[in-house]
Amino acid sequence: MLYDCAVIGGGPAGMSASLVLGRARRNVILFDDNEPRNAVTRESHGFLTRDGVKPNELKKIARTELSKYPSIILQRMKIASIRKGDNHFSIETLEGELYSARKIIFATGVKEALPNIEGIQTFYGNSIYSCPYCDGWEMKEKAIAIISNHQAIFESIKLIYNWSKNLIVCTDGSHTLSEEEKSELERKEIQLFEQKVKQLVGNEGMVKAIRFADGVEVPIEGGFITPEWVSTTSIAQSLGCEIDKNGGLNTDGLGRTNIEGIYAAGDVTTPSQVVIAAGEGSKAAIGVNTDLTNEDFVK
Ligand SMILES: Cc1cc2nc3c(=O)[nH]c(=O)nc-3n(C[C@H](O)[C@H](O)[C@H](O)COP(=O)(O)OP(=O)(O)OC[C@H]3O[C@@H](n4cnc5c(N)ncnc54)[C@H](O)[C@@H]3O)c2cc1C
Repeated sequence: MLYDCAVIGGGPAGMSASLVLGRARRNVILFDDNEPRNAVTRESHGFLTRDGVKPNELKKIARTELSKYPSIILQRMKIASIRKGDNHFSIETLEGELYSARKIIFATGVKEALPNIEGIQTFYGNSIYSCPYCDGWEMKEKAIAIISNHQAIFESIKLIYNWSKNLIVCTDGSHTLSEEEKSELERKEIQLFEQKVKQLVGNEGMVKAIRFADGVEVPIEGGFITPEWVSTTSIAQSLGCEIDKNGGLNTDGLGRTNIEGIYAAGDVTTPSQVVIAAGEGSKAAIGVNTDLTNEDFVK
């Protein structure tokens, strides 16, 4: 069977794209190997009507909604490669199964690489986060460590200061802050630690202290880090899709990449939030449906 569209990735972006395409009476096959970025977190915030929902619960609701549309097929499979033919794409799963589709939407998200700090995996998503818009409210007025050796750390400090003024700043061995920025921190009574961070300590996901390589330990109740985003776009790149300087896929306003027939939505373009990924999925679906309509109406 030749599907109208294959959606690769079943997070908010891919499922939203599938819903819109299914409702547009398109035959859709959605592949997902179920490793979403927010799997580590207990609650997802900021999606109107679903604020605080468990990520798994959101996925379950979405799958139930998709199951109402007979032209949407869900496959719990990882896609290993895609080839572009004259009129369609050949899609191969990791298990070697082959599928064909006229259009492809990449909604594969990003992978995160956390800083090399002992214990961080236990706390990330429970009391250590990366996005204040997602989890700042839960951290409000708490004793927070901003841990980052990133160039833009001062921007993060300014932002997170809105949620809590009880901050310490840990640059993990780097010296990225200017003298002017350091004086600003001093003026705001924000302590700066420029030595290497060794470990986070606490229990049941709740961080209690940050320990530095020189033995200094400071009590904290939460933290924000700057993870590195590792691209999941090697298949898209192998098909010739352009990426931006941050490794995200370049798209127009309707999810179209530079390669005809290939679209992208969600974190794979720019890591952001569930509601934004879902919105981009909807836009990419409209892009696909517009292009299929234009190709088919006058033949
Ligand atoms: C700790 C943490 C907390 C967060 N909290 C919030 C929050 O409170 N509110 C909020 O709005 N956002 C939050 N986010 C961000 C949110 O998780 C992402 O913005 C959102 O999940 C992006 O959706 P997506 O569909 O683009 O990607 P994802 O949700 O990551 O989904 C991508 C899917 O594609 C699949 N996939 C990838 N490659 C393949 C392949 N080759 N074949 C088949 N499937 C594939 C993956 O397994 C995955 O299931 C948080 C993120 C983190 C890390």
